[in-house]
Amino acid sequence: MAKKNLGVNTICTHVGEIKDTQFKGAISPMYLSTSYAFEDVDVKRYPRYFNTPNQEYLSKKIAALEHSEAALIFGSGMAAISTTLLAFLGAGDHIVLQNDLYGGTRNLIESQFDRYKIGYTFIEGTSVLDFEKAIKPQTKIIYIETPSNPLLKLVDIKAVSKLAKSKKIVTVIDSTFATPIVQNPIDLGIDIVVHSATKYFGGHSDITAGAVAASQSHIDTIWSLAKDTGGSLSDFTVWMLERSMKTLAIRVKAQNKNAKKIAKFLETHAYVSKVYYPGLKSHPDHELAKTQMRSFGAMLSFELKEGIDASAFLKALKLIKPSMSLAGVESTMILPYLASHALLSQEERDAQGISNRLIRFSVGIESAKDLKHDIHRAISQINASTLIDN
Ligand SMILES: *Cc1c(COP(=O)(O)O)cnc(C)c1O
Repeated sequence: MAKKNLGVNTICTHVGEIKDTQFKGAISPMYLSTSYAFEDVDVKRYPRYFNTPNQEYLSKKIAALEHSEAALIFGSGMAAISTTLLAFLGAGDHIVLQNDLYGGTRNLIESQFDRYKIGYTFIEGTSVLDFEKAIKPQTKIIYIETPSNPLLKLVDIKAVSKLAKSKKIVTVIDSTFATPIVQNPIDLGIDIVVHSATKYFGGHSDITAGAVAASQSHIDTIWSLAKDTGGSLSDFTVWMLERSMKTLAIRVKAQNKNAKKIAKFLETHAYVSKVYYPGLKSHPDHELAKTQMRSFGAMLSFELKEGIDASAFLKALKLIKPSMSLAGVESTMILPYLASHALLSQEERDAQGISNRLIRFSVGIESAKDLKHDIHRAISQINASTLIDN
């Protein structure tokens, strides 16, 4: 199949499916064998070699979606991220990272990299100049995450890729929040794309997985460590992930559409003081968003007006679930200061602009009017009770 010419929904549905030649079933069979022949075979297959039939074929779907030559599927987003970084970094090397990063990634670097004698710099801003200033002769990787969690800050993917290329530095992007439906970093010059497939790829809050997409030679480098560190995903879950990814594009598009409506609704709501969403004109990176994203994602965050208790608001919601994690078909909200950023000190959170009133909203596929109603009703309810208490 000429993958390049296929529409995104067709890639989601069909690329990388395994033909059921035995029974002619419509979907990929699940191969749970951990033991394959070693003689008279082209490939010696073993789950921890990332090359069972289901692993190998689903990787093709991910590569097709990310416009990369190859891909690998991991047991979690952090397995994908840690293996990728450690495959390219050794003692004496240096990595430049965006300051706003997924908490687990930041912890990995801050808690482990000193032991491996890998240097790192978290840059202050998000401009290309900020990245350039942090580069050292030993820098091997520039790592970005755009849009970022939870303030949806953007990095200019094309400009950072160009800078890195000029200095022969490998670029890695965590594109979990965007998905390949929203942006294709490889087309903008990025070398390696990592995903927490626990989020939109899975999309139903029921599997943990990770993925990496890159050129065959970069994938080979990552694989040479991955097969020994062993962060592969079980074939049962690979099969679940394939099923989930068939609807990736339609889910993400519906969620993006909802998020845009909700962001506009929140921006004009009397009890909301601030909304962070790249699709709003008020977002500082809105113009950049239009150049590198097809739509604006389904993650947003907002602050309630001073005096409104964010925890009470979350408890008053009936439809939207206050819960960790994100990107399922169901809408969820979280207080980053109590969850994803709980390990940071108050000063670190203040420096990053994460207040105790900040709410991160993972917008699902429910009807937008019901989501708006839930938010409005919860705010009115707690605001009324605050007034009564006074
Ligand atoms: C959840 C997440 C991760 C980590 O993925 P796991 O599957 O939980 O290991 C990494 N990056 C981002 C942006 C995430 O949201």
